[in-house]
Amino acid sequence: MEVEPVPMQATCHTEGCPVDGVTFTVDMYPNEAPPVFRAQCGRCGQPVTDLVPA
Ligand SMILES: [Zn+2]
Repeated sequence: MEVEPVPMQATCHTEGCPVDGVTFTVDMYPNEAPPVFRAQCGRCGQPVTDLVPA
């Protein structure tokens, strides 16, 4: 099954994180239906809960 990447804007809100409040646009792949998007901050390693479609 072919899955199209979905551009999402991910923003980390972890206190003290170097990229706290910085929004990154990333291509994400839904891994189930209905789509569930999971992202992890590349700087602090915490799950990013602030995900919005770009
Ligand atoms: Zn972070």
